[in-house]
Amino acid sequence: MEILILGGGVVGVTTAYQLLKDGHQVKVIDRQAPGIGGASYGNAGLIATGHSIAWGSPKALKIWFNSFFQEDPVFRMKFQTDSQFIGWGLKFLAQCTEYKAKRNSLAKHRICVYSQKKLQEVVAETKFKYAQNTNGLLYLYRNQQAMAANNSHIRLLQEVGQALEIVDKERVLEIIPEMRDSADQIAGGVFSATDESGDSRIFTEQLMEVCRKMGGTFESGVSIERIEASGTTIKRVVTNCGTYSADSYVLSLGAWSPLLVSASLGVRLSVYPVKGYSITIPVEKGHTPPRIGGLHEEDLLGFAPMGDHFRVSSISEFNGYDAGHTPEDFEHILSTAKKLFPNAGNYEKAEYWSGFRPMTPEGTPILGKGLHSNLFYNTGHGHLGWTMSCGTARITADLIAGKSPEISTALMGVR
Ligand SMILES: Cc1cc2nc3c(=O)[nH]c(=O)nc-3n(C[C@H](O)[C@H](O)[C@H](O)COP(=O)(O)OP(=O)(O)OC[C@H]3O[C@@H](n4cnc5c(N)ncnc54)[C@H](O)[C@@H]3O)c2cc1C
Repeated sequence: MEILILGGGVVGVTTAYQLLKDGHQVKVIDRQAPGIGGASYGNAGLIATGHSIAWGSPKALKIWFNSFFQEDPVFRMKFQTDSQFIGWGLKFLAQCTEYKAKRNSLAKHRICVYSQKKLQEVVAETKFKYAQNTNGLLYLYRNQQAMAANNSHIRLLQEVGQALEIVDKERVLEIIPEMRDSADQIAGGVFSATDESGDSRIFTEQLMEVCRKMGGTFESGVSIERIEASGTTIKRVVTNCGTYSADSYVLSLGAWSPLLVSASLGVRLSVYPVKGYSITIPVEKGHTPPRIGGLHEEDLLGFAPMGDHFRVSSISEFNGYDAGHTPEDFEHILSTAKKLFPNAGNYEKAEYWSGFRPMTPEGTPILGKGLHSNLFYNTGHGHLGWTMSCGTARITADLIAGKSPEISTALMGVR
């Protein structure tokens, strides 16, 4: 079958790989080079299966409410009046019950566990390097009360088999001795020994090369303008470089997915661009970045060593598709990173980046077919798209083949 994949982020390229393995003819189009144009470029790099908790919860309700009245350095709400924001916001608020928070977290965890298994298969099959670190992730807390408040999350994931070790400060320093100089910032943490990290941009670029050798084609500089359908069949995709047709299409445009299908097909996808920021710091001789990655919970600072660079990332900002950034946007990340990891790298030469998490209200991705018989959605992976990419790629390939996916995709339909 000829398959056209719209979008060459980590989700589009992992999907290309699975479809090529199944023997299809695959083409990926993107307005930029694969791995460069969206969130896959500068994310925190965490394969955070041990942290797959839904954002929507009774606690989030309080944070949302407060954000309209007071400024928060990490959670920034710039109220929008467009229907995408209002519609998404109402659906998100509806997820903020204990029952739905638990249900969505378990669905997220299921897909993350499956996806990590598929990632490990891809790595074993391809053997390329992408600053992979399989020594676990550490979720850190500055104070005991905050840690105690998250006990229910830890228990929820432990009950479904996630190995999570609650650790005190001494054990934190055993796991990450590079934090000895910032020990006053830590009360303890949760160690997820099976979690991992890696650079998703390098992974995407390397996997694209593998796909090319398998016969896949990648075209960059192709800006998709609209999708044209006749009845319930997609006929063609119109771009700045002409029209493209295929037997089936996969929509993997990250945070931009809803724009295209809403304008072209009248389909309203519940995906909102939640902006985040990251800083990539070169690691030079004498620097001592943490040996594993993780997250500092109170500051929501994700961090990961990535070979010759060290990445830190934070902030959830609701501000539409405003892609720009100013030096002030990074003040919180920079000061927190310097406090926690003063000797991790050369902060003077850091690279600054922002990108959009394609968030759904539930936190689970959007998979499978909607109204159109030959359009498959693989989008809306939110803050864990790198973690979920290899699994949702396999699920998409199975759905295209008419097979049942290996895990349930309940809660992940087109919405
Ligand atoms: C700050 C930050 C930190 C994160 N940290 C983590 C983490 O630690 N772990 C984790 O698992 N996930 C993390 N994520 C989430 C993860 O990065 C995303 O979920 C994932 O990269 C989404 O991949 P994607 O391929 O769907 O989208 P993208 O990587 O955004 O790719 C979408 C592609 O579509 C293309 N495109 C869009 N519109 C058009 C058009 N009209 N025509 C042509 N091309 C178009 C873009 O150029 C882009 O290449 C983070 C995200 C952010 C922003």
